[in-house]
Amino acid sequence: MRDIQDFIYKTFEDVIPYQRGVELRIHCPFCIDRAGTEDTKHHLHINLSKEVCHCFRCDYSGTWIGLVIDVTGKSYAQALGELYKVPSPSRFDSIDSIWTAKAIKKAIRQVELPGDFLPLHESCKMGLVINAIRYLSNRGFRRKQWEQHGLGIAESVGVRVIIPVEDRYWQARALYPFQEPKYVNPDIELGDVLFNSIALKLYDEVVICEGAFSAIAVGDNAVALLGKNANDMQMSRITGSDVERFIITIESGAEESMIEIADTLMATGKDVVVWHYKEGDPADSGNYEESDYDFGTKLKMLLE
Ligand SMILES: [Zn+2]
Repeated sequence: MRDIQDFIYKTFEDVIPYQRGVELRIHCPFCIDRAGTEDTKHHLHINLSKEVCHCFRCDYSGTWIGLVIDVTGKSYAQALGELYKVPSPSRFDSIDSIWTAKAIKKAIRQVELPGDFLPLHESCKMGLVINAIRYLSNRGFRRKQWEQHGLGIAESVGVRVIIPVEDRYWQARALYPFQEPKYVNPDIELGDVLFNSIALKLYDEVVICEGAFSAIAVGDNAVALLGKNANDMQMSRITGSDVERFIITIESGAEESMIEIADTLMATGKDVVVWHYKEGDPADSGNYEESDYDFGTKLKMLLE
């Protein structure tokens, strides 16, 4: 679920809905720079169904996400967070996002980690901790996000940030581009392990991502496969859940394997939507197209 209305009403004072709510109009914040004078007549039109906006005075135009980035200066991942509305944990009436955050933290405490693991939020000002926190904030992650998922460091795995996953599985992501390999993980089979698998129990709508950082950027209802495809065990866990609707994030180059997942989910009667990234992924500067998954979408992705 994505929606820009909250953001617009929260950020701008004088908002006028037009065309029975298909469009919002605001005083364009870009006119001062682009046209030389302030806009006082709601020239920036934001289309609520097509995810685009346009100013009929200074000619600013862009996507919703571009608008959020241009107005706030936030990174892509944070802007995505502004727009993506994590549905409330609809499986149970009585729980809310605070409860969910606690449940996620509790699940992570069960993960078996390297003996010298230290969570970032409890650690002193060691160089390794400072570098890991700097890495995360450069990628647009907020403290709440890395604290909730219990990210940490361990000297035994080097200059990396550790992402606890499930059971005995974790990943250690290199902080610098020159480090090889990019990920280190314990020498065990992945099996049916998924990052943030608790989302399958809590939500009716779940977003499937490749990497853990993408899932963290999307929100509490996202899981990560920790690879470009789902193995059979992961797949049967996903299809066996009570989740009704899946959003599959498809990064450029992973179309074929993600289409396999979409097909399998469709075959088991789930609703499937795809977010197709032409470049990048949910955790960085990519931009995506959303469409209901059907034969046309599939064909388009395979042909591109
Ligand atoms: Zn303008």
